[in-house]
Amino acid sequence: MSTTAKSSIHTAASAAPGAASCRSGADPQSLPVDAARERILAALSPVADNQMLPLRAALGRVLAEEVLSPIDVPAHTNSAVDGYAVSAAELPAAGTTELRVVATARAGHPVERSIGPGECVQIMTGAPMPPGADTALMQEDVQRSGDIIVVNAGHRGGENVRRAGEDLAAGQPAVHAGQRLMPAQLGLLASLGRAEVRVRRRPRVAFFSTGDELRSVGQPLGPGEIYDSNRYSLHGMISRLDMDILDLGVVTDHPERLREALRTAAREADAIVTSGGVSVGEADYIKQILAELGEVDFWKIAMKPGRPFAFGRVDDAWFFGLPGNPVAVMVTFYQFVQPALERLAGRSPGAPPTLQAIAAEPLRKKPGRTEFVRAVLETDADGRRRVRPSGPQGSGILRSMSEADCFIVLGHDSGPVADGDVVEVQPFAGLV
Ligand code: AMP
Ligand code: MG
Repeated sequence: MSTTAKSSIHTAASAAPGAASCRSGADPQSLPVDAARERILAALSPVADNQMLPLRAALGRVLAEEVLSPIDVPAHTNSAVDGYAVSAAELPAAGTTELRVVATARAGHPVERSIGPGECVQIMTGAPMPPGADTALMQEDVQRSGDIIVVNAGHRGGENVRRAGEDLAAGQPAVHAGQRLMPAQLGLLASLGRAEVRVRRRPRVAFFSTGDELRSVGQPLGPGEIYDSNRYSLHGMISRLDMDILDLGVVTDHPERLREALRTAAREADAIVTSGGVSVGEADYIKQILAELGEVDFWKIAMKPGRPFAFGRVDDAWFFGLPGNPVAVMVTFYQFVQPALERLAGRSPGAPPTLQAIAAEPLRKKPGRTEFVRAVLETDADGRRRVRPSGPQGSGILRSMSEADCFIVLGHDSGPVADGDVVEVQPFAGLV
């Protein structure tokens, strides 16, 4: 269960839904996207529980301890090349020097004896440097005949040697609490000999769709019915965040069913994500039920798509009420729910990463709301990044979402975009 403290939630400056028409771009009462995200993040804190996991099972999880290196990395001063370990004192300033090869050091098979004057040791990459040697010459840089090598001038003392502890000295922090364990971190932890690590518990996220018109895939459609697509895109987006998920199916627009689903979700999960039912026509009866069970605010967010949004608590769980339209669900999830779930998981979320690109066609835009345009990035013949809409932008049109690889983000205050203007882009690769 959630161990987050109950935080107080402030009501948006907007409160009353329906105060302005959906068509008006600039509703001064609605909440800007960044303000909504900040308000949500400020209310949340990470789940407190943690667990020990074997290293492999910890992939994707958030580290709950500060891991200090118990050893020097590398553990021994060793050669970075295949070649010859020599003393810098033997390197010729001009002309050449001859050295006698007295032994061979292989990785895992160190040479224990010191090299003396006029001597060197043949050495393989990763083998510890023998006593008395501080420089490794690359095999291709010397001429060898029999057990004699000829060394030219121009070498630098200490070259091609990795010093013990140069990557990480014993006692230094190696991986930080709050860092997500990706392949590089698993490798680093293994290099320190860690077999298990302490990670935060995954947040448990329950989700369901609302609407009498919805059928799940695999069922026949009756008149006026449509397939529930939101639960599938939500399943995908939540799964990619490495959460425990609980799919509660379709809940019909019936107060008792909704109450029951919310109670189950709040009992089982840290966060509840629903789609549908927060638009003006439907909000009232849902509002009543949410008011009974918790403390939820209904916001109008100055964005397109995705204007209606509800956020708050239902019992002990955080509640995110997304709009019903399939693209609005995805946009609001990425902008608000994803950072929120990351915070619950113990990661440090920010606004999704962006890059800049040249608009390949003009775009209509009204100041006073942030618009997310489904689009495709491409590189032109001159190597410049260009971006164009992937198709019609209605908030229910999943096809142009499916064909897009990024959002063009038209900022709150910006107006129309001309062909050739530079715009901000959120690549989907950065969203999950
Ligand atoms: P609502 O916010 O419930 O009024 O829904 C807005 C629009 O989104 C309506 O056209 C709904 O039929 C549609 N919609 C709602 N939920 C879903 C869903 N789970 N899958 C597909 N379409 C949906
Ligand atoms: Mg509905």
